[in-house]
Amino acid sequence: MANYNRRDFAKLVVLGGIGYTIFSCADDAKKNTSTGTKTETEKKVAPKMPELLAENIKLYQKADAEYQELAIRFNKRFQQSPTYIAQCFTTQGVADAVQFANYKDLKVVVKSGGHSFEGFSSTNDGLVVDVSAMKSMEWTPDHSLTVGTGCVLKELYNEMLPKQRILPSGSCATVGIAGLTLGGGYGFFSRKYGLTCDSLQAITIVDGQGNIRHESGNSAILKACKGGGNGNFGIVTKMKFRTYQAPSFFQAYRCKAYKLDTKRAKKLLETWFRYTKNLPNTAFAAFVLNGKTLTILITNYSNDNKGVMDMYNALKEISDKATIGSKRPLPKALKTFYGVQNPIYFKNACAGLYKDFSEIEGCIDDVISKVISSRGLIYQINTLGGNINSAASEKRSVYPHRSYPYLSELQSYWDKPSQEASRLAAFKEVQDRFYNHGIRAHYRNYPDINFKDFETAYYGKYLPELKAIKKQLDPDNRIQHPQSISV
Ligand SMILES: Cc1cc2nc3c(=O)[nH]c(=O)nc-3n(C[C@H](O)[C@H](O)[C@H](O)COP(=O)(O)OP(=O)(O)OC[C@H]3O[C@@H](n4cnc5c(N)ncnc54)[C@H](O)[C@@H]3O)c2cc1C
Repeated sequence: MANYNRRDFAKLVVLGGIGYTIFSCADDAKKNTSTGTKTETEKKVAPKMPELLAENIKLYQKADAEYQELAIRFNKRFQQSPTYIAQCFTTQGVADAVQFANYKDLKVVVKSGGHSFEGFSSTNDGLVVDVSAMKSMEWTPDHSLTVGTGCVLKELYNEMLPKQRILPSGSCATVGIAGLTLGGGYGFFSRKYGLTCDSLQAITIVDGQGNIRHESGNSAILKACKGGGNGNFGIVTKMKFRTYQAPSFFQAYRCKAYKLDTKRAKKLLETWFRYTKNLPNTAFAAFVLNGKTLTILITNYSNDNKGVMDMYNALKEISDKATIGSKRPLPKALKTFYGVQNPIYFKNACAGLYKDFSEIEGCIDDVISKVISSRGLIYQINTLGGNINSAASEKRSVYPHRSYPYLSELQSYWDKPSQEASRLAAFKEVQDRFYNHGIRAHYRNYPDINFKDFETAYYGKYLPELKAIKKQLDPDNRIQHPQSISV
């Protein structure tokens, strides 16, 4: 039995290591001073064996003890064996790793926090560029924070919260800031401050030929990395974020209902949808149906509480149990949502972005009845909306789903590989119900290898822009995974 329980699931479900060491990277971030693109090696050079200095990069193969450690991913369904793992310590090391892959003609896969739902940060036959040791953090006087892309969320919170600063991002402790931001990124603070990628001001990125680029301002490459940058055309090594004043408290409200049948679960869901419309932007809500048990979470961090109390009171009437947590200091409160930190067996995937309950009304009876009659299926809906739906952010990113205020996901967790087949079969049945009902928009950070027409589902109208960036930065398709953008 893995070391998690039902309560851990709820935490893991509701949103969403490494020792807290901040390396000071003798790196090249300071070269980026301009707006737009600055490239250090513009012209394509014939592949040659780069000099691999231990201060920049260490290359491991299967026989190495370090390889075994570095090959582990959060999802135990995917324990793959790349030909090489390049552990990189500097941007130069990442550039060398890509040059090495070009020289050896190997495909390159990128790994930061290792939390990809579908194992997209490993491979069986190429080279993994692992940036997880790149944990530099550097503040500027305007409260911007530049981080190495090896940082995980817990490390960012540990750095920011004592300074009373926050970044709108996810809640699970060991999710990587890189993968999360490059696909969008949302969490408790997003309805007020936008997606994580909306706070991204500048990046350092290594392209498919090993060139180092610094992107900021109106750069099309920076824009492409805000929602479309996951392992597609470059390896981001540094991210500069705007941060915000942290709220002084955080409060959670919970309603629970047990032994649900379809009719009652649907009524609770309709009520949840109705009242989320009047929540303030400081609030977040999740509807988590775990078999026959429902948990509704509402959080808020401001005294503007009317919409929250209206929702709580309406749900309390039709739930079995309802509790209002105390106003807690933010650092303590966030820790309760850190979730499971060791690798587990699971299948998670987006179950669609919705504009309203009416979009799923025609299939929701079927979905709920399958979830409550199957072992280990969890159906969750989270609120987006608020300032995520900003015209200014739309212009500066390729996240195509801003007008959808609801993001749903399907989840299943198990303990032994022998349980996998039945879990996946039930999972697929629910997905088919949504697909047959016309649900097509999906969040890139909740991928599924089985999504049909996944490029359009993730990137919508921005797909041609992303293909142009792919062509520009990685014309040989060096950087790839099973759902990376094709040239
Ligand atoms: C337990 C859990 C909780 C989660 N909670 C949330 C949440 O609250 N909010 C939310 O928005 N999402 C959440 N997610 C989804 C999460 O955003 C994605 O799984 C994300 O891609 C993970 O990033 P990573 O760096 O940890 O993963 P990785 O597996 O390292 O990478 C994920 C993808 O990004 C690419 N990539 C990674 N690093 C780089 C880089 N430096 N440059 C270019 N490409 C790169 C990889 O190639 C891969 O395709 C959660 C996931 C899990 C498993």
